[in-house]
Amino acid sequence: PGEHSPASDPVDTHCPYCSLQCGMALRPVAPDGGPVGVEVVERTAFPVNRGALCGKGRTAPAVLSSRVRLTEPLVRRPDSGRLEPATWEEALDRIAEGLAATGRAYGRDAVGVFGGGGLTNEKAYALGKFARVVLGTSQIDYNGRFCMSSAAAAHQRAFGLDRGLPFPLADVARTGCVVLVGSNLAETMPPALRHLTELKEAGGRLIVVDPRRTRTAEQADLHLAPRPGTDLALALGLLHLVVAEGRVDEEFVERRTSGWPEARAAAMAHWPELVERITGVPVPELRKAVTMFCGAENSMVLTARGPEQQSKGTDTVGAWINLCLATGRAGRPLSGYGCLTGQGNGQGGREHGQKADQLPGYRKLDDPAARAHVAAVWGVEPDALPGPGRSAYELLDALGRDVRALLLMGSNPLVSAPRAAHVESRLRSLDFLAVADVVLSETAALADVVLPVAQWAEETGTMTNLEGRVVLRRAALTPPPGVRTDLQVLGGLAARLGWEKGFPADAEEVFEELRRASAGGPADYSGITYRRIAEEDGVFWPCPERTERTEGAMGAEGTEADGSEGAGRADSVDAESADPDGAERAEGAERAHPDGAKGTGSGSAGRAGGPHPGTPRLFLDRFATDDGRARFAPVGHRPAAEEPDAEYPVLLTTGRVLAQYQSGAQTRRVAELNEAAPGPYVQLHPRLAERLGADEGAPIAVVSRRGRAVAPARISRDIRPDTVFMPFHWAGPGRANTVTNPALDPVSRMPEFKVCAVRLELSEG
Ligand code: SF4
Repeated sequence: PGEHSPASDPVDTHCPYCSLQCGMALRPVAPDGGPVGVEVVERTAFPVNRGALCGKGRTAPAVLSSRVRLTEPLVRRPDSGRLEPATWEEALDRIAEGLAATGRAYGRDAVGVFGGGGLTNEKAYALGKFARVVLGTSQIDYNGRFCMSSAAAAHQRAFGLDRGLPFPLADVARTGCVVLVGSNLAETMPPALRHLTELKEAGGRLIVVDPRRTRTAEQADLHLAPRPGTDLALALGLLHLVVAEGRVDEEFVERRTSGWPEARAAAMAHWPELVERITGVPVPELRKAVTMFCGAENSMVLTARGPEQQSKGTDTVGAWINLCLATGRAGRPLSGYGCLTGQGNGQGGREHGQKADQLPGYRKLDDPAARAHVAAVWGVEPDALPGPGRSAYELLDALGRDVRALLLMGSNPLVSAPRAAHVESRLRSLDFLAVADVVLSETAALADVVLPVAQWAEETGTMTNLEGRVVLRRAALTPPPGVRTDLQVLGGLAARLGWEKGFPADAEEVFEELRRASAGGPADYSGITYRRIAEEDGVFWPCPERTERTEGAMGAEGTEADGSEGAGRADSVDAESADPDGAERAEGAERAHPDGAKGTGSGSAGRAGGPHPGTPRLFLDRFATDDGRARFAPVGHRPAAEEPDAEYPVLLTTGRVLAQYQSGAQTRRVAELNEAAPGPYVQLHPRLAERLGADEGAPIAVVSRRGRAVAPARISRDIRPDTVFMPFHWAGPGRANTVTNPALDPVSRMPEFKVCAVRLELSEG
């Protein structure tokens, strides 16, 4: 697909897919004298995966050489109505004209931008800046809104700061008990499973909460299978028992939290028998879970999409955080709450400006000080920056009406958005749609202009993984002729729209500006450089650049020099205890001290007076709230937006399979993965199948108020009899998201992918 990189040695980099960002190396190869490609070489030094890769990562180079990847721009011709090859000049001109004409005719907010959680930090930053400075629109959001936004909102509310895991993933192996809520990590990120295996080998316990007996649940000491949409009640029931059994850590609650009386009262209204009725989880299992969780000296709760993708996702996560706070399992080593982010850069994607209400550095768009800081870096007046815009689904829902032109980068909402048939009709109703992608995705196929862009192994950039560790993806190949990078695309469009400067194509140059824009913000990257990332194999944010001024200010009050509440409030790891991965890096040695004090990974970074070491573990001394205390959320159970009734009597929940990733735009192009997971299916319990008269493989229509999806039956006792499951990676008749409910969480604006009411029919196909 490309030319040989200057280096013939393997190039250290990271997987293009999920939020683990597994380390791998790429070695250039030219089989049989054909075009130069790359093969994956094991890289054991990166502590998150220690060389292990799942099938998606291992086969990722296949997409680089895929026959269906785009290598020339496409423009829809008015005469034929078809997408046909065009020059880059014509394609970029058409996009610039399309966006500008819409803005002139209908106002700047009639132009929208939709990004992706797979874009590098540099691209996310440049896309946010492009939207707000060049287009002047408030209408930008990204598909990461569908990923962990509920956990982000709950994190903010409880701790004053949102970072997926406030500790390194390796800590999971060294705690005493892990509650995994709504995560099928054995299929979504298999290399992470080894940390749980080590936990169990060391005598730790694993509790899995999932309506299905998944591959992950099979590993559990205790599997709780609540009815979909009732995780909140389950957490409240556990907290009720914690109180009733006298297991509250009163000293911790008193010293480090606020809001306990209200949260306690809410939990006491959810007595175990009531919770059993709501969730279907028997009271003895609730008691067993509390005994395991509180019986260990250290415990963690990790949530994923299960509790988060609900119309009450923020409160649901809040209830699990409450459990951690009441038992003193937060703000200390080897205990706490964390979110297992999904997309490769779901974390960094929002930290740097793709999210509708945020500016780089995780600053709030409606904060005057934040606007002034970022505007100064961008060389514009603060008043020139638009305010917060619509969230992802609301933006898609407004297409063709309030928002009439759209630039879309790194996303395929026609498959991944809820109520997808409606989203498809909104996309079709646009005056103008431009898409930058590596293949002609289902969404790109609707566009007026499609731009072929470079892939992960063909360009350099940084990603922020689920731990808040900023890693460097290095180019191992040059892109094929006819392909440009997303940064080149944004630079070309900006130039056509009057911004000759400010949008460089060089990723490191963009990162240098990002560092300045993030300085002093909650997600402070100012002390992180490409060089440091390379030397340290990743740096955890917050990592402020140490200057005389910031050292003094942060050392004293944990407050930034400009007076804003910044990273200093969360900077609770001292320089000597900063090594995140001590256990791994001190191979063969005794286990590292829980806080990493015996580790060696941070090298000279940790020495007093040197650069900030980064912050592997947050909140050890104080939380990032104004008063330093974590806040309980007084949350109560409420039903899903759509409950079963006579017409739609069954619950549908959706999710992922091992061999496919998100909308499948890349993984469906890999033969080995397609063989392993060729298409959608409907998992249902034998009792449900019998009632329907369905045999294994029979075509089942799953029908909701929004549409129908048809896929073969997969009959299994691993699912509750009142629930069916569909994976969502495919388009066409089996598109699960045709059926899902776009009911939004009032805080995070997360759609309710995880639960809706359906009826089942035997279909002819
Ligand atoms: Fe890639 Fe995630 Fe698989 Fe690791 S677990 S190889 S990051 S898809």
